[in-house]
Amino acid sequence: MDYLAGLNPSQRAAVEQIKGPVMIVAGAGSGKTRVITYRVAHLIRQGVDPFNILVLTFTNKAAKEMRERIMKVVGAEAKNIWMGTFHSIFARILRVEAELIGYPKNFTIYDTDDTKSLLRAILKELNLDDKLYNVNHVYGRISSAKNNLISPQEYNKNEAIMAEDIANGRGQLGQIYMTYAQRCYRAGAMDFDDLLFKTNVLLNKYPDVLHKYQHQFKYLMVDEYQDTNFSQYLIVKRLAAVNENICVVGDDAQSIYAFRGANIQNILNFQKDYPDVKVFKLEQNYRSTKMIVNAANSIIANNKNQLEKNVFSDNEDGEKIKVARAFSDNEEGKIVAEAISQEKALKSLNYKDFAILYRTNAQSRSLEEALRKLNVPYKLYGGTSFYQRKEIKDLIAYFRLTFNPNDEEALKRVINYPRRGIGDTTVEKIMVAADQQQLRLWDVVANAQMFLDGRSAASVSNFGLMIQSFQATAKTNTAFDTAMHIAQHSGILKDLYEDKSVEGLARYENIQELLNGIKEFSEREDLEEKGLDIFMQDIALLTNDDNDKDPNADTVSLMTIHASKGLEFPVVFIVGLEENLFPSQLSLNSRSELEEERRLFYVAVTRAEKKLHLSYATSRYRWGTLNNCEPSRFLDELNPSTLDLDFNPRTAMASNDDFGSERVKWQRKEESSGDMFSKPKPKVIKTTSILPKAHKPTEGFAPSDTSGLQVGMEVEHERFGFGKVINLEGNKPDVKATIFFKELGQKQLLLKFAKLRIV
Ligand code: ATP
Ligand code: MG
Repeated sequence: MDYLAGLNPSQRAAVEQIKGPVMIVAGAGSGKTRVITYRVAHLIRQGVDPFNILVLTFTNKAAKEMRERIMKVVGAEAKNIWMGTFHSIFARILRVEAELIGYPKNFTIYDTDDTKSLLRAILKELNLDDKLYNVNHVYGRISSAKNNLISPQEYNKNEAIMAEDIANGRGQLGQIYMTYAQRCYRAGAMDFDDLLFKTNVLLNKYPDVLHKYQHQFKYLMVDEYQDTNFSQYLIVKRLAAVNENICVVGDDAQSIYAFRGANIQNILNFQKDYPDVKVFKLEQNYRSTKMIVNAANSIIANNKNQLEKNVFSDNEDGEKIKVARAFSDNEEGKIVAEAISQEKALKSLNYKDFAILYRTNAQSRSLEEALRKLNVPYKLYGGTSFYQRKEIKDLIAYFRLTFNPNDEEALKRVINYPRRGIGDTTVEKIMVAADQQQLRLWDVVANAQMFLDGRSAASVSNFGLMIQSFQATAKTNTAFDTAMHIAQHSGILKDLYEDKSVEGLARYENIQELLNGIKEFSEREDLEEKGLDIFMQDIALLTNDDNDKDPNADTVSLMTIHASKGLEFPVVFIVGLEENLFPSQLSLNSRSELEEERRLFYVAVTRAEKKLHLSYATSRYRWGTLNNCEPSRFLDELNPSTLDLDFNPRTAMASNDDFGSERVKWQRKEESSGDMFSKPKPKVIKTTSILPKAHKPTEGFAPSDTSGLQVGMEVEHERFGFGKVINLEGNKPDVKATIFFKELGQKQLLLKFAKLRIV
């Protein structure tokens, strides 16, 4: 049994306990995920059929990595394990069972954009104020209802909920939820929360289906159990009810999705649900140096709500945590990029050994710029996924319509793109007709002459015929030939081809890229079914991580802390440690939200194996204004003996901050205000007061010939610093350039006078 050699005694005991309920609640880096991986391999080695194993992970990426490791022990059989995220696994099951609950097998998955667009349309129809009924708020409310398994009917019957909505001046939420659910149903579409909600409906309503899956999944495992919501909890509980071979692992200190309905109680109640549960403790952290573990422990000790845990490391002491102060977000980017270049060379590391973690996606911009400037290759995770790009969504909307013509969001998206003379009024008429006659939009489109007149009837009817012709094509052609046919005959390819701008070209290339992907899929030999409908099935569930073409590429990883859960990197940078950013401004109103924010910081710190860098800026652009920032309270909470305060001298010089006591440089000024929950007010200051009077030009700066200047190029100005050309107008020698300078914003310059060089 040497394949279990890489486990310590408690890990091994947990792996070998294959029968009955098992729970592991343990700190970061203690090998929880490793236990699940080995446990699956062990089960298969013990003769369990991989088809009988269900493993639920938090990201598709985690599932993929686990499968690869298991493959090394058990070989190709590992392909048959049911392993993936809750959403992808239950979407797969719903594809088989959907008709039972009134959905087509080819149901569409509405992504966040589709959901919001549908909600906006409903708000408009109901004549509701979209400020009061902010679409994100409405979405959040519906999502939370679904994740607590409250149907629209129950919502509208529930007096407490209705009273709460009325008290908040949003008495129509129940009506919106009802209409939204009806619209999704009519369109044959499920949103993300429906994938779990409808699975519960299915398992609840159809005992024979439940029975089938209970016997199929003889062994269940759930990673990151602390972040499951009620809907997920119930699915797992139902599926495990017969065999009770269920193993969950998690860490209450890493629960970071309460804002999306995750319920930390699920982990705390496990013992109540399964009184004979075997609990295993893992206390040794194998990931990080003693210094990092020490720092992480000092952070989480500030939270009142937590399970007692003793986490230690036997690894080397390691270096102290470096804290850097920058005077602006751009300066912070520079510091990080330079530190990566230096450390890589000094310690002979690869770029992929580095990760930069931030609280919000918007922070990536200044980091990306700085990395580009130093030619540091990077990969942005969780940003706009390839499949979220407009042109890709447009073409995919045609694919969606081809397989599910009732898909209303897809229909609205492309009925007049590329332009074919179907104006908003006509679309409105179609919607009104559908509502009045209780029809689907597609029924109106396919019978346009009955509902519309003249020219618009003809255009709409032609559109309907075109979609029908796509359906015919799809029946007899490969995925690639169908996709190519649709790209050409819908007019999308031509439309993008005719757009000769840089962006237009990029969009055209993206479509090519999608078609290439479909071609590869068409030619795969390991699949029996490879029609375009199969390719399409779960595209809405794909994120950037899954589109990872070359996982071995040597690039620095950039991602939000939320996306970094479960991962590890030799060197980690956590940036933007400022009040109102991290902890986020929205979290400062209650202890529980602040504690969640602190757990997020704990997650970030515990991603680091060897070296951790923290940084903050004393000023930052947010929502278009320059704000003075104060260092995060989290910096104060770290054990001071783990920190290295050696500030970058250049930063210290350029900084105009006045916090600086020699001892603890980030001590907040308004510490005396007493109430830690009071919102510090960001001060808006004049840009001129914080920026250095003159940009310090790059050494050897010599204005170069700008005759070749083009829109999109990066430039350096002797005084204004770095920027990007966003427009050029006028004729030589009076060409005027509009340049967006990173520090100063937009400026117009006459090229013949500007001291500018192309970088
Ligand atoms: P997190 O809470 O961040 O998800 P985790 O508890 O899931 O962490 P793992 O990712 O499984 O921890 O393990 C952390 C690191 O420690 C991994 O690199 C893993 O391979 C290593 N590790 C775990 N247990 C052992 C062991 N017994 N011997 C050697 N390395 C180990
Ligand atoms: Mg893990």
